Amino acid sequence: MSKYWSQVVHGLTPYTPGEQPKIANLIKLNTNENPYGPSPKVLEALRGEAADSLRLYPDPNSDRLKQAIAEFHGLTPAQVFVGNGSDEVLAHVFLALLKHDAPLLFPDITYSFYPVYCGLYDIDYQTVPLTQTFEINVDDYRVANGGIIFPNPNAPTGRVLALSEIRRLLDANTESVVVIDEAYIDFGGESAVTLVNAYPQLLVTHTLSKSRSLAGLRVGYAVGHPELIDALHRVKDSFNSYPIDRFASAGAVAAMEDVDYFEATRQRVMASREKLVEAMQALGFEVLPSGANFIFARHPHRDALGLTTALRERSIIVRHFKKPARIDQFMRITVGTDEECEALIAALKDIL
Ligand code: PMP
Repeated sequence: MSKYWSQVVHGLTPYTPGEQPKIANLIKLNTNENPYGPSPKVLEALRGEAADSLRLYPDPNSDRLKQAIAEFHGLTPAQVFVGNGSDEVLAHVFLALLKHDAPLLFPDITYSFYPVYCGLYDIDYQTVPLTQTFEINVDDYRVANGGIIFPNPNAPTGRVLALSEIRRLLDANTESVVVIDEAYIDFGGESAVTLVNAYPQLLVTHTLSKSRSLAGLRVGYAVGHPELIDALHRVKDSFNSYPIDRFASAGAVAAMEDVDYFEATRQRVMASREKLVEAMQALGFEVLPSGANFIFARHPHRDALGLTTALRERSIIVRHFKKPARIDQFMRITVGTDEECEALIAALKDIL
C-alpha cells in the first residue's frame, strides 16, 4: 500500500457499532432498538409493494415519503430531506453544511459517529464538556464555530435539553448551522421541529429506527429551511447516492401515517422505562434522568464492565463504553418489554 493511503487509512478511527449477535434467546438491550414490531400497516404496505412494484426503479426524489413526513410535522416537502437511515442523512449534513474555517462543536460525551465523520471528511472539531450532571450548557457554545451538533436527548446519557434552551442557543448562534439530532426525541423530549420556520439556521434530524421500530429498513430524514435542504440534495446528487428503495419507502410512509400506533408504542416504552428506573434505583443504581428509550446507570460499588460481563453470561446484552473515562462506570441499557426488563432486574439481583 502506498504511504499516502496507509496514512489515510490508519488515521481513521472507525465507528464501533453495538453488537448484533447471531445467537438466539439473548435479551438484547444494547442497541436501542424498539422491543415492539412496526405498525401492522407497515407490514401490509410491504406486502403490497412486494406484489406490485419491485420490478420498477424507486422514485429518485422520494416525493411520497417527503409528503408523508411533511404532513406529520405540519411542514412542506421542500423542508424535508430523506436518507437511508439518519446516519446517511448525517453524512450529507457533515459534507454539505459543517465545513468552515472555525471548528464544529459537539459535546465531549455524545454520539460517537460525529468524530468519525469529522475524521472521514477532514472537518475540524472541538468538543465541549458536559456539566458535572452530564447536561449540555448552551452558554458553553458561545464561541466561534463552523456549526453545532448534538443529539436531544443526548446519547448515551439520555439527558434531555429543554426547548427553551435550544431557542436560547439559536438566538445566540445565527451565523452557522445548528443541528439537533432527534433520534430519541419521541420518548420524552420536546421536538425542535416546531422551531424550523422561525430559525433558518436550524436543521433537525430524525430516524424511523427507534420510535417507529424500523431499524432494519434504514430510513431517516432532516427538516429545516429549504435552503439547507437544497444544500443536502446537492451533495446527494453529486454522489449519485442511492434513493430510498421501494420497500423502505412504502414501509416508511405507512409508519409515518399510522399516528395511533406510533403514539401507543412510544407511551408503552416510556411506561416500561419508568418501571425499569424504579427497579434499578431499588437495587442501589444511580440512573440519569432519561427522555430516551434507554437508561444510563451506574452502581456506586460495582464495576460497570464487570456487571456487563456478568449479564452477558446470563444471556443479557447491555452496552458499556470504555471511553471517555467519565462514563466508564455506566451501563447503557435499552428499554425492552416489561418481561425483558424484569429478567434484567432478576439477573442483577443475582449478580449483586
Ligand atoms: N443519532 C443517534 C444519536 C443515534 O444513537 C443513532 C443510532 N445509533 C443514529 C443517529 C442513527 O440511527 P439510524 O441510522 O438507524 O437512523
